[in-house]
Amino acid sequence: MTSTSASGNVPRIAVYGSINMDLVAYVPVRPASGETVAGTEFRQVPGGKGANQAIAAARAGGDTAFLGAVGDDPFGVQMRSALVDSGVDASELRTVPGASGVAHIVVEGDGANSIIVVPGANAAMTGITGAERTVLAGCDALLLQLELPMEGVVAAARAAREAGVRTVLTPAPARELPDELLDLVDLLVPNQHEAAAVTGEEDPRRALEALLRRVPEAVVTLGGDGSLHGERGGEPVHVPSRPVEAVDTTAAGDTFCGAFAVARAEGRGPEESMEFAAAAAALSVQRQGASTSMPRRAEIEALLA
Ligand code: ADP
Repeated sequence: MTSTSASGNVPRIAVYGSINMDLVAYVPVRPASGETVAGTEFRQVPGGKGANQAIAAARAGGDTAFLGAVGDDPFGVQMRSALVDSGVDASELRTVPGASGVAHIVVEGDGANSIIVVPGANAAMTGITGAERTVLAGCDALLLQLELPMEGVVAAARAAREAGVRTVLTPAPARELPDELLDLVDLLVPNQHEAAAVTGEEDPRRALEALLRRVPEAVVTLGGDGSLHGERGGEPVHVPSRPVEAVDTTAAGDTFCGAFAVARAEGRGPEESMEFAAAAAALSVQRQGASTSMPRRAEIEALLA
């Protein structure tokens, strides 16, 4: 592996985010209220946007630390191992009394899904500890999403700003963003739907323009239509997605964001970073699963060669 940041080292990434055990049941048709149906398959996989982005960044070549919380239950142990197995530094992952975060996912025969998220231990992330601050201060970038309490997300972004660390925010689940947070964000990475929710603009180019009035740099991901990047004062750049047969696009955006952040922290320009991220995401959509489908750096480089 030869990844190097502008400072000549492997880029260091911190993710302050959610971690859930995804409990996925596959059914022909979901049960109505009061009804019981037989499922065809069950899978238990670590998920949560924070953990997914951390695994994506680590596999893409970043020296990645995850800051979050699991419960003191068996899911917590399994999720910690899953991070470590993917090369993520989980030494500051908190274990708090009670249940880990859980996502109950029901997937119907046509692929439509319904999800119940019970935050559990994630609700403990309302601030940043001294040890977490120390990890953060040694990083090139902090990745944030919106699955943790807003006060925790803002505290992490503020700590990053104080330490001179770039903050990358994926505004998901989509919602209006408080100015207090946007003022601390260096790079916003929404998908088209999230960009519309933040700006009120359905057209991606107009949404990008609106985002750049609030943050200095943004990438709007457009699913199979690629991604659109802009920097304040510059011309937007569109990079197409790679033409592949997608079988499961779960966590495509998290794969893209983790890989993009690593490439930018290595000192690569926006267009080259989008191509790197599009390659990573294209590999992931050709396989079933979320974190399990994320490619390692050698695969991404082989695709780009
Ligand atoms: P999210 O998963 O957050 O909704 P998107 O659907 O916009 O995000 O996808 C993120 C990135 O993943 C896209 O910019 C693209 O590079 C890649 N991607 C998504 N869907 C496909 C697809 N069908 N074929 C190839 N690449 C895809």
